[in-house]
Amino acid sequence: MPAWFETNRERISGIDRTFRSLFADPIAKFAQVEDLITSMDEAGVDVSVCAGFGWTDPETARISNDYNLEAARTYSDRLVAFCSVNPLWGEDAVAEVKRCHAAGARGIGELHPDTQGFLNADLAALSPVFDTARKLEMPILMHASEPVGHGYPGKGTVTPDLLMALVNAFPDNAFIFSHFGGGLPFYGLMPEVMAALKNVYFDSAAFPFLYRPEVFDVVAKAVGADKILFASDFPLVTQKRALTGFDASGLNAQDSQGVRGANAAHVLSI
Ligand SMILES: [Zn+2]
Repeated sequence: MPAWFETNRERISGIDRTFRSLFADPIAKFAQVEDLITSMDEAGVDVSVCAGFGWTDPETARISNDYNLEAARTYSDRLVAFCSVNPLWGEDAVAEVKRCHAAGARGIGELHPDTQGFLNADLAALSPVFDTARKLEMPILMHASEPVGHGYPGKGTVTPDLLMALVNAFPDNAFIFSHFGGGLPFYGLMPEVMAALKNVYFDSAAFPFLYRPEVFDVVAKAVGADKILFASDFPLVTQKRALTGFDASGLNAQDSQGVRGANAAHVLSI
């Protein structure tokens, strides 16, 4: 995020619900693009996806999107930009997605359904943005919440049952559900769930805070290793720490290579 998001955290907390929920706390971590590149170099990471957050203030979203797009232009061989909108903005959100796509964005997200207020919305209200994402072949990255376990800032209530409702309403959209989808992959052992997950992927963001490293192996058995995208959640977790945890995942060499990049390259067509 731009450095001035950090220096103006009180002001932005006053206008954006998602920012307030994640960054009002003075110990919340911020990172600029240079911090990300340095951390990638330390961990031996070639390419990162810079995600946004599910902003609720359109101006905050536009500035954050522009920052990601500029970062991906500056480091064109190292960074891939995602952009964020609130689907409930309707045609304004569609215009922002199209603007960002034309400027190089490859996906949409991270979205935060709790603070963005679309958990209880009529799913038809999401159609303009989700249909645009499908046409532009942009996967939608969405925060997910475990219905059990400890709480944490921004955990929310985007549990597997709600994610399945989205998947069933938009079966042709590509989705990436963060944080191993709040445990949704475990239900991939149910044949009808597995069939519905045909365009769904799961990232491992912040997994050291949530699961033992065996989560990769368990999810691979439940839904297939090709659905797992390695993610750190930098700066919350450094890439180095996440990769060290991943080393204990128990995946074989081929699956490991997919999770560490080949699967994401496939999803993003890069
Ligand atoms: Zn998240």
